[in-house]
Amino acid sequence: MTNCIFCGIISGEIPSHKIYEDSNVVAFLDINPVKDGHTLIVPKVHAENLLESGPEVSQMLMETVQKISPAIKKIVAAEGFNVVTNIGAAAGQTVHHTHVHIIPRHEGDGLALWPQMKTDHEALGETAKKVSDLL
Ligand code: AMP
Ligand code: ZN
Repeated sequence: MTNCIFCGIISGEIPSHKIYEDSNVVAFLDINPVKDGHTLIVPKVHAENLLESGPEVSQMLMETVQKISPAIKKIVAAEGFNVVTNIGAAAGQTVHHTHVHIIPRHEGDGLALWPQMKTDHEALGETAKKVSDLL
């Protein structure tokens, strides 16, 4: 797709620090890493986000997470990872081509995740019922 940064990286028009490529996906280092080794996995077929990409691409992306994470772990001595995909601008998606982040983590690295609400079983029950009724 024209004007898509990740399509440009896939075609080679935009340079990247590539770490893995096969016929379906490319993985390269994030240009503004949260931590050393922060990697993005991108399917070669353009779609706006993971929901638009469909199940086959989802499977390829997760297989690639499993394939490349051990090498990242070794190089940056990761003790864990966050595997994240942002869907929509409200969720922080800035590049609108499906991608999965692999963010290496270390004990006490100070990166905070989201604040949590108090347990409210009534509210949880209502939401669970409404969503499950739609499925
Ligand atoms: P998201 O916020 O989930 O859309 O993440 C997009 C990510 O792409 C951000 O973490 C950016 O730092 C990263 N990014 C943007 N442009 C490039 C680029 N040319 N090469 C590598 N990573 C990039
Ligand atoms: Zn694209």
